[in-house]
Amino acid sequence: MGKAKPRPGFESWGRYPKLQADVVPLHWTTDFPLAKAPAARQLPVGLGRSYGDVCLLENGTLLATPEMDRLLHFNEATGVLRCEAGASLKEILDFAMPRGFFLPVTPGTKYVTVGGAIANDIHGKNHHVAGTFGRHVLRFELARSDGSRVVCSPVENPEWFAATIGGMGLTGLMTWAEIRLRPIVSRLIDYRGVKFHGLAEFLDLSRTAASEYTVSWIDCLSTGKNFARGIFMQGDHAEIPGPLRRSREPKLTFPFDLPQLALNRYSVATFNAFYYHRQRGNEKTGPVDYEPFFYPLDAVLKWNRMYGKAGLLQFQCVLPREQDEHGVVEVLKAITASGLASFLAVIKVFGDVPSPGMMSFPAPGITLALDFPIRREASFDLLERLARITLEHGGRMYPAKDARMTPEQFQAFYPQWQEFARYVDPGFDSAFWQRVTGRRPLDD
Ligand SMILES: Cc1cc2nc3c(=O)[nH]c(=O)nc-3n(C[C@H](O)[C@H](O)[C@H](O)COP(=O)(O)OP(=O)(O)OC[C@H]3O[C@@H](n4cnc5c(N)ncnc54)[C@H](O)[C@@H]3O)c2cc1C
Repeated sequence: MGKAKPRPGFESWGRYPKLQADVVPLHWTTDFPLAKAPAARQLPVGLGRSYGDVCLLENGTLLATPEMDRLLHFNEATGVLRCEAGASLKEILDFAMPRGFFLPVTPGTKYVTVGGAIANDIHGKNHHVAGTFGRHVLRFELARSDGSRVVCSPVENPEWFAATIGGMGLTGLMTWAEIRLRPIVSRLIDYRGVKFHGLAEFLDLSRTAASEYTVSWIDCLSTGKNFARGIFMQGDHAEIPGPLRRSREPKLTFPFDLPQLALNRYSVATFNAFYYHRQRGNEKTGPVDYEPFFYPLDAVLKWNRMYGKAGLLQFQCVLPREQDEHGVVEVLKAITASGLASFLAVIKVFGDVPSPGMMSFPAPGITLALDFPIRREASFDLLERLARITLEHGGRMYPAKDARMTPEQFQAFYPQWQEFARYVDPGFDSAFWQRVTGRRPLDD
């Protein structure tokens, strides 16, 4: 076990809020509970790719897991991989790709740990057929601050299994997990990109697409005839045997924090027009490498610096009933009217594969995810407005992306929260949990 470093400031991806904590790196699964029990509460953390405060704890002790990252066992016949919880999806891909295996579910970055992926029960472009990451987790070990350890699976301690998947790190520390990888024969993806104009066309494409992976980029600044234009992107793992080499390391790192004003309505509108017209013609098909298909943003490390020192916020909601476009239209109109730029805007229809976690975010319906630079009152007012629209339309917001939900909003989105609270480790806490249970005020 490493020594606590003197308050270095662990940041989430959005770099907001900025909270100080001690960071203790764990190297071995036996490093927890810590030899010298900390006076403050604790929280396990992965690679800090959550946008808001689920991976923060002011004046607490963060148990940093990324060095507890060994791959422990792999069965080529079944695809079952056992690894320590700090192993990242990147490390797993580097190992699995040359052997002809891929992740069962992946988010838009490979720089997340297995522990983080389970604790937020993440989803990917194949949610409509594969459900969430938690659906592909067979077992894990949960270590509690009282020194007890339990193995959890759908049949062993199933209530702890359900509470920990999507449990935001609050039920204990996951030390290792077993997940099932899926076989592939090539790193290539058979891709098809189709432009759409308006939500009705987007929903039609979503309903008829037969691909394993679907996601769309949506232009959320255009108005009039260009309102809700976008590109519907779909893909499947290539069936013709092809390259299976591991990926090269990205060479680019975003060099410095951009000044706040660099991202504004005009620069984003220009980007959006460029992005939309970059695809010539209405439809584009062909093989593409899996890296740009799944992880376009990973090509530039530390891209969050583009949003300046103040950081960024993400809003992600799911609105039920695919046919109810009104909520999505209201969200998009509120964003357009606010003038706050968001070029990283993604829309997808979630499927109805049930999520295994008690607190999992995904539910059947339309999900929208948008990034905003933090501009104090303006961004916070907009997020408050978007949370209200989400609530009015019976949807919910994603804790992994959030830093602004009020206790009333969270408790309405997740009415099961009190049942979940019974599983929270008494030695654990997070800034998110303090906020949504009314113990920490929203920063002004
Ligand atoms: C560019 C980008 C794209 C993204 N795309 C998606 C997407 O498509 N879909 C999606 O669902 N999410 C997406 N995310 C969010 C990201 O996948 C999640 O926030 C993920 O949980 C981050 O994992 P992490 O290892 O960085 O964990 P952290 O952010 O450090 O922690 C996340 C949570 O996991 C808990 N935790 C971590 N390790 C353990 C452990 N060993 N035991 C118990 N609890 C633990 C922490 O307490 C915390 O609550 C994206 C993020 C970025 C930056």
